[in-house]
Amino acid sequence: MPMRYHGTVIRPPSEAYSYILQVTYGCSHNCCTFCGTYLDKPFQPRQIDEVLEDIQMAGRMMPDTRRVFLADGDALGLSTRRLTQILAALNAAFPHLERVGTYANAQNLLSKSESELERLVQQGLGIVYLGLESGSDEILSQIEKGATAAEMITAVQKAQRAGLLVSIIGILGLGGPERSEHHAKRTGQVVSQMDPDYFSMLTLMLVPGTKLHGQWQTGEFKLLEPEEMLAELRQIIEHTDGLSQCVFRTNHASNYLPLKGTLPQDKERLLQSLDAALARGKEVLRPETWRGL
Ligand code: SF4
Repeated sequence: MPMRYHGTVIRPPSEAYSYILQVTYGCSHNCCTFCGTYLDKPFQPRQIDEVLEDIQMAGRMMPDTRRVFLADGDALGLSTRRLTQILAALNAAFPHLERVGTYANAQNLLSKSESELERLVQQGLGIVYLGLESGSDEILSQIEKGATAAEMITAVQKAQRAGLLVSIIGILGLGGPERSEHHAKRTGQVVSQMDPDYFSMLTLMLVPGTKLHGQWQTGEFKLLEPEEMLAELRQIIEHTDGLSQCVFRTNHASNYLPLKGTLPQDKERLLQSLDAALARGKEVLRPETWRGL
């Protein structure tokens, strides 16, 4: 079986048709207060023999594979030597391979030299997905993200110089009602500075067992109402400025309203869609029971 998975495995919506290959287990940070994804497994690189065995089996069973996603949380945290070995095996197994993607955090990108990243790009690494979550340092510190906005901007610019596509992910509602405006403004501004190829927003869903869920239970943290989440999204889009050509999506299942466009050209249309949804209220929003992570 080429799909031997351990624990919860997630991937971005745009990697739905990719071959998901687990090269690490968990997330080396594993501290973000809202994230329960890898609470079930401590971080560890997967045995290389097992990874190579999976690739060979997948190559025999799915030789036409064009896209591969390296899981789990921050596969880019592996050494360049190990990643090179994995990419070489993928190229050998899949003659039509077009792109390999992975999640990455600021630390993964900052700890590799630009030439190391370039080498990975030459071997087929094509896109990294980075969870910015918020552009506000205050909120980033509160959620224990482990990186500042400035560090994430530097990391993204380094990835872009090396030739990687970058997809940025933010989370609506992370600042609660008190910091909603600040969260929106800083997120729009930081994404603008990053000027990524893709930008998507998720909507906060509290996961039992996480620190943030506990803070919500004690009243320390408050969730936004669905309409407030949309108003926050509107402000984020409003604060984007100077983007070159950025595909924007809210197609993740956690969102109340799926939107798609390219910024900056679709900015007005996206704002109008949000205004129309806000005017109509809950009837146009994804029902709570249909939302998911
Ligand atoms: S949000 Fe990302 S970096 Fe934070 S704990 Fe979860 S997987 Fe790790």
